[in-house]
Amino acid sequence: MADQYHLQTRRQLLKAAIGGATGIVIGGPVLRLWAGTQSAQETGTLKLADDLYVLRIPGEANVIVQSDEKGVLLVDGGSAAGSDVVIKAASELAGGRAVHTLFNTHWHPEQTGSNERLGKSGATIIAHENTRLWLGQNITWPWNGQRFKKLPKVAQPNKTFYTTGKLESDIRYGYIPDAAHTDGDMYVFFPTQNVLAVGDVVSRAGWPVVDYWTGGWIGGMVGGAQRLQTLVDANTRIVPARGPMLTLADLKTQTEMYGAIYDRLNQMLNKGRGPSEAVEAKPARDYEAQMGNSDEFVRRAFESLWAYLSPDA
Ligand SMILES: [Zn+2]
Repeated sequence: MADQYHLQTRRQLLKAAIGGATGIVIGGPVLRLWAGTQSAQETGTLKLADDLYVLRIPGEANVIVQSDEKGVLLVDGGSAAGSDVVIKAASELAGGRAVHTLFNTHWHPEQTGSNERLGKSGATIIAHENTRLWLGQNITWPWNGQRFKKLPKVAQPNKTFYTTGKLESDIRYGYIPDAAHTDGDMYVFFPTQNVLAVGDVVSRAGWPVVDYWTGGWIGGMVGGAQRLQTLVDANTRIVPARGPMLTLADLKTQTEMYGAIYDRLNQMLNKGRGPSEAVEAKPARDYEAQMGNSDEFVRRAFESLWAYLSPDA
């Protein structure tokens, strides 16, 4: 029952993302979700260090695997439909040892599909408190009616935080309070390997879903990309939930891009324009060659301004 639900959700999500982010016909290969910038060779396991890997399973968000003497630590756990494959691949990278720690970079089902299984097996599930709150309630997205069922208690994060935290292994994590993607976004930093996991706060692989219903907004995308710059140096490898790795230079590019789009949308809002007029004005035209058709993104980004800037908000 639960699996069926999640499969359904996954399919709807793919539809929404495919239709939304790229305008590609629904039913195309799942990989096309990642908008042309993620080529076939960017799937498979990517080794970042002897103990640190990225699982890039087709149709799944990126999963970071760190092995230590106690077992496996994951940053995000894939979707419920992909959980078997994710957990098996992760465990194989760590000599068959079990997952002891899972980070949820935010509440979306592409990140939290292994929560139930790992919660039941006694893993520590770490997330921002807002992520736990979203996972504890049913959610319906107003723009497409998509529904997400709350997770059972055992699947909810069992170690939450508000600002920052640190593990015994020196891995650091913290809140990204700009609400770039949701209001529970977090990063995980591996200092020894100089790797920063950032969830869906930034990506080079096409336009994101602007989930203003759970707090994300275009202003936060600018702020989040800016904030991440303060956490990295020129050599830091930045691993997003979708698509290829980024560098500090990419963060600068993203800050400028979303900043320019934000300014254009803000001007339209101030002139009393609506979402359809914003889409027609093509405020993200300059970036479409790289990022794909922007119409759905622009519509949602404009609506996110309403959520944040309208007097009643
Ligand atoms: Zn997401």
